[in-house]
Amino acid sequence: MLVTFAALVPTALAAWLLWQVVSGPGESTPPKVLPAPGQSSTSAAGASDDAKKPSPWPSKSSASPSPSKTATRKPSPSSKPAGGGSGPLKGKVVVIDPGHNPGNFRHTADINRTVNVGNGSKACDTTGTSTNAGYTEAQFTLDVARRMKTVLEQQGATVRLTQNGDRAWGPCVDERARIGNAAKADAVVSVHADGSASGNRGFHVILPASVHAGAADTRPIVASSRDLGERVAGKFLQVTGEPPSNYVGGGTALDTRSDLGGLNLSTVPKVFIECGNMRDSQDAGRLTSGSWRQKAAQGISEGIVSFLRG
Ligand code: ZN
Repeated sequence: MLVTFAALVPTALAAWLLWQVVSGPGESTPPKVLPAPGQSSTSAAGASDDAKKPSPWPSKSSASPSPSKTATRKPSPSSKPAGGGSGPLKGKVVVIDPGHNPGNFRHTADINRTVNVGNGSKACDTTGTSTNAGYTEAQFTLDVARRMKTVLEQQGATVRLTQNGDRAWGPCVDERARIGNAAKADAVVSVHADGSASGNRGFHVILPASVHAGAADTRPIVASSRDLGERVAGKFLQVTGEPPSNYVGGGTALDTRSDLGGLNLSTVPKVFIECGNMRDSQDAGRLTSGSWRQKAAQGISEGIVSFLRG
């Protein structure tokens, strides 16, 4: 009986969430919808993309930026925003924040120093989690962020990443917020995957609480960030089929926090998404799949597009 109940609840909530997004709370016009993943021409990279795509990981020794290395890669969007084409998001600026950094493991002293987040202090950055088999969260976030960049630039947005594997560690959480602020971003999404106990699974979106302390004042962005977060959650659910978290947010796929520097210090609409639980084998199977990550990128991007187009 308990099993049946547990199975039914997420389904009902998922349906509710989907309905919320499709109908839009109090909206007179339905949110615009991007083409389905299979229809979106070149953006549908799929699983085979893994083989074609160079690994974002430094193959050896140092992660410090190397001119020769970066020259052979895609141009770094963290130093030179690209996009700004002729699509529906022309003129819109999106900042994508890939959580953590693959090089953080090698820079513990740097990332462990504390930074002020308005209502307290936090570590500059953390290493993030990984699957039991060793696929790291930092690898995941960078891959999803790059896929999102492609999707959003196809819509005409100007897209900037807070880091693109082009720096040895970080940025610190306060700098991650400042990058979005300085870019005058219309929307910022910080991409993560969680490291909770096995059996805990599903995704959730983290919204900024109202924080007014020190350098933090989220009051002007609480409502807009919730709108962004609800749309991202709804589209992510729709495109990936990943269930809302069964361990955070009471099945709503939404959580509100006041302890994240990246949210506290933001002056532009911003949310985090925990795409799944890397320590759960079922979620890990999805998070390590290139085709699933493409869906994740598509879902988050569609939420952003919905938010930006109103
Ligand atoms: Zn994380």
